[in-house]
Amino acid sequence: MSILIYTESEEGKLKKTAFEVASYAKDLARQTGSTVTAVSINAGDTAPLGNYGVDKVLRVNDDRLAAFNARAYADIIQQAARQEAAKIVIIGSTANDKYLAPLLAAQLEAGYAPNVVALPESTDPFRVKRTAFSNKAFNITEISTDIKLVGLAKNSFGLKEQQGNAAEEDFSPSLNDADFSITTESVDKTAGKVTIADAEIVVSGGRGLKGPENWGMIEDLAGVLGAATACSKPVSDMGWRPHGEHVGQTGKPVAANLYVAVGISGAIQHLAGINASKVKVVINNDPEAPFFKAADYGVVGDAFEVVPALTEKLKEF
Ligand code: FAD
Repeated sequence: MSILIYTESEEGKLKKTAFEVASYAKDLARQTGSTVTAVSINAGDTAPLGNYGVDKVLRVNDDRLAAFNARAYADIIQQAARQEAAKIVIIGSTANDKYLAPLLAAQLEAGYAPNVVALPESTDPFRVKRTAFSNKAFNITEISTDIKLVGLAKNSFGLKEQQGNAAEEDFSPSLNDADFSITTESVDKTAGKVTIADAEIVVSGGRGLKGPENWGMIEDLAGVLGAATACSKPVSDMGWRPHGEHVGQTGKPVAANLYVAVGISGAIQHLAGINASKVKVVINNDPEAPFFKAADYGVVGDAFEVVPALTEKLKEF
C-alpha cells in the first residue's frame, strides 16, 4: 500500500510543513506496512525529503503553477493518488492546504479529518485524534471511506530526520482550462520578515502597550529571538498594527513552539487562536490577568521594564 503526501513549497523551497507531513507519514507507513510517495509542485530540490522517510517523489514542474491554485493543485494530488493507488493521503494544515482539502476530498470521494495531532490509534477502523472547538478539546474521528484524507495539524508531530534516499520521478498530470479558471494572487505584506504561519517563535503585543509608538520593544525582542510579531484584536482594530498580525479566534491561528504575550489580558477569543502553541510566556502587570492561567511561564511586571531587560539579557546568548 502507498501513502501519498503533498509536500508544500514556496518560491521553489520546501516548507517545514512538508517535512512534518513526511515524518508523520513514515511512522504511519511503518504501522501499516506501506511506502511513502510525495507529490511536489515546483519545489526545487526535493532530495532532502529522503531524509524524512519519503521513498519516492513525484515532481511536477509547470510555470502555470508558480502561484498556488487550489483547483489545479487538488487535481494534481488526486491524479497522483490514483496513479499510486494510495489509500491514505496526507496534507498539512496551512491556509493553502485548508483551501484545497475539500476539493481534493470531493475528487477522491475521501473522508477528510483536519487538524490531526497524532498517529491513528487504530487503522482498521481508521481513527484519528484531532483538535476541536478552537483547540480546546480533542475529538476521535473515524474515517470510513476507502480513501482517507488526513490534514496534519501544524507543529503537532515534530520532525524525524533519518538517513534515506527518495527516488525522483517526473510527473505530468493532465490539466485542463477549468483548472485555471480561478487565479489567486498572494500578497506578502511581511516580505523579509518571519511570518506568523511559519514562525517557531511569536512575540505578541496587546493593548497594555498603550500605543503604536511603543512597538519598537516588541520588534527588538522578536528580532533577538528570530520571531514573528503579532498582536491582539483591539490593537489591529485601532490601527496600531496591521490586520495581518491579529491573532486569535477571528485572526490568524498560532501553533508556535514559543508564544510570548506582552500586555495581553488573555481573553477567551485570543486564547482560542494561540492555544496550540507549545510554551506560552506571559508578561503582564496584573497578577489577576486571565492569561496567567493558560501560561507555562509568567512574569508579573511592567512590560516597559521587563521587555527591554529581557531583550538585553537575550543578546548575551
Ligand atoms: P485588554 O483586554 O485591554 O488587556 C490589556 C492587558 O494589558 C491587561 O491584562 C493589562 O493588565 C495589561 N497591561 C496594561 N499595562 C501593562 C503594562 N505596562 N505592562 C504589562 N501589562 C500591562 N481578541 C483577540 O486578541 N483575538 C481575536 O481573534 C478576537 N476575536 C474576538 C471575537 C469576538 C466575537 C469578540 C467578541 C472578541 C474578540 N476578541 C479577540 C477580543 C477579546 O475579547 C479581547 O477584548 C481582546 O483580546 C483584548 O485585547 P488585549 O488583551 O490586548 O487588551
